[in-house]
Amino acid sequence: MHPAFMLSIVVPAYLEENSIRHLYESILGSLNRSGIEFELIIVDDGSSDHTFDRIRELSEQDDRVLGIRLSRNFGHQAALLAGLSEARGDRILMMDADGQHPPSMIRPLLDKLEEGFDIVNTVREDTRDAGFFKKRSSKLFYRIFNMLSDVKIVSNSSDFRIMTRDALEAFLSFQEQNRFTRGLISWMGFKQASLPYRAPERFSGSSKYSLRRMSRLAFAGLTAFSSKPLRISTYLGLIVLTLGIAYAIYTLVVYLLGKSNPGWASLMITFLVLGGTQLLILGIIGEYLARIFNESKGRPHYFIERRTR
Ligand code: UDP
Ligand code: MG
Repeated sequence: MHPAFMLSIVVPAYLEENSIRHLYESILGSLNRSGIEFELIIVDDGSSDHTFDRIRELSEQDDRVLGIRLSRNFGHQAALLAGLSEARGDRILMMDADGQHPPSMIRPLLDKLEEGFDIVNTVREDTRDAGFFKKRSSKLFYRIFNMLSDVKIVSNSSDFRIMTRDALEAFLSFQEQNRFTRGLISWMGFKQASLPYRAPERFSGSSKYSLRRMSRLAFAGLTAFSSKPLRISTYLGLIVLTLGIAYAIYTLVVYLLGKSNPGWASLMITFLVLGGTQLLILGIIGEYLARIFNESKGRPHYFIERRTR
């Protein structure tokens, strides 16, 4: 039996009109007879379908359900933040709306937390149904991330985790715009544990993480947690410079020996290599500059348009 506490379940939902009720019922099912007091906070991330209507229906039926609607689609990470900021419980669980984070894991997660951890993360076990490309690209991303970044994240980790109130307060104190939740959590420290789970198919609908969104998240994560790409450009610059000096000496010698030729090819090659390297470095600097620009505006992370109560 768990000691008396309140559990907040925070769920971001975008275009999930057909998943909401399913989710609610499976959460009820898994908490059934546990006597656990809970609130369910569902954040409609500016969906253009009936997601918010479904949430409102639920909240009229069950006052443990709170619905929040953001003023537009701010993205998964911002929606998560909006929900977490509303959570009133002593234990806070975050999970997806689509059924891919099985509610049957809630009890094991709570039990693990009770062992004295502050944060219990989950790691998705490889499933055959996850697309080949998605699996490969996410593996590659974690490999690169861990190579470049000072904080490490386990590959296949997901935004399905439970934490104590203290850990949540710490998490909410991050000011940055660009919130790569997995990285932030890893950076935080505290006593963390992790449980494996199997991801079932979505209840309905399809994944919102297109290749474009995935690469955007990957870039955001990388630039937020590593300045090594900037250093790489310095090294690259140094290497090119060294080669350039060596070549300049060679040219000079050839010239002094009076054997200089028209040299069109060598000029072109030098020009192209140097030009390419410079553009690459400018691009990397630009990425960081854009982040600084973004952070410097200090805009709110989201706007709440409506709530069910
Ligand atoms: N989501 C969101 N805003 C978005 C995109 C997604 O709140 O702009 C929610 C979505 O409803 C789901 C979770 O974030 O509950 C994860 O999204 P999805 O299932 O599309 O990602 P995947 O599981 O394929 O990585
Ligand atoms: Mg999903």
